Amino acid sequence: MLGPVDARELGITLAHDHVLMDGSFMYVDPPADDDQHMADETITLQNRGWVAYHWTSNHHNVQLDSEALAVSELQRFVNAGGRTVVDPTNVGLGRDPAPLVRIAEATGAHILMGAGYYLGGTHPSGMADRSPDSITAEIVADIELGVDGTDVKAGLIGEIGCSYPWLPNEKKSLRAAVAAQLETGAPLMVHPGRDPLSPVEIAQIVDEEGGDLTRTIICHIDRTCIDRAWLADMAATGCYLEYDLFGNESSWYPPNPSVDMPSDAERMDVVLWHFEQGSEGQVLLSHDIATKHRLHQYGGLGYDHLITNVAPRLLRRGLTEADVATLIVDNPQRIYAFAP
Ligand SMILES: [Zn+2]
Repeated sequence: MLGPVDARELGITLAHDHVLMDGSFMYVDPPADDDQHMADETITLQNRGWVAYHWTSNHHNVQLDSEALAVSELQRFVNAGGRTVVDPTNVGLGRDPAPLVRIAEATGAHILMGAGYYLGGTHPSGMADRSPDSITAEIVADIELGVDGTDVKAGLIGEIGCSYPWLPNEKKSLRAAVAAQLETGAPLMVHPGRDPLSPVEIAQIVDEEGGDLTRTIICHIDRTCIDRAWLADMAATGCYLEYDLFGNESSWYPPNPSVDMPSDAERMDVVLWHFEQGSEGQVLLSHDIATKHRLHQYGGLGYDHLITNVAPRLLRRGLTEADVATLIVDNPQRIYAFAP
């Protein structure tokens, strides 16, 4: 099932994972001259370590392009007790509703499909000439009528791409998305730039435009900033904070070498801190799978990692079953339901 669903039916939910995606925008050549041939190899046991480390430098890796593979990988999530995947693949990331419908039907998973525009580098030509109102109207139509001439409706606005510094037209795209949030009651998910100032400026823009920060998700918090004072300030805005890179256990983060990617253990420390602070109701968890190396088929931990591996570790650290349900059932149900 796609599009807006009865929130009571969401069950265990991945707040941000891509099922099918064209990630060619993130490809960069291998850093070492001697490794250029690695870019065109398919993933094998022999090169899997290299690909996992340099995951943006292999053409095969940056495509989630197999419907059959998506079915078998998502089936493991469903078999583990999972129910819903929020797939914020939108314009610029190769969003395609028809295969998502088939994958949802084959697996029994709910898939919520995204809307709106990703990062400026993936905007179609002509974006500079678009009026904000025309972008808003496009997003509203995706939600209320269906995407790309189908009757398959988007279930959220996002992930709206914001770079830091901002690229041309990204603020316009965000402002248009906020207007669509106001018109439809859909949740708004924003991909921030890789700087702690980016989510701060995003929250300011959402607020300026009259948007609802309590209906807004800032994704990729774990690779942006986990300083506790900053997190407390962000939580105070009312927005949801999404730790969506669980299962990414390499501290080397190719898209931003100045940031050390936290481990799952560090992510869990932050989650426990939110419980201490009383802000656990604003926390969302996911894996942001967007490349092949994260899938079981290619040596990754798959869409079931949160259920299979992380939830038991959170219990071992002292959370109750109800606490874990707050994170992966109750919070997604609240934010991914449409506002009345
Ligand atoms: Zn993103």
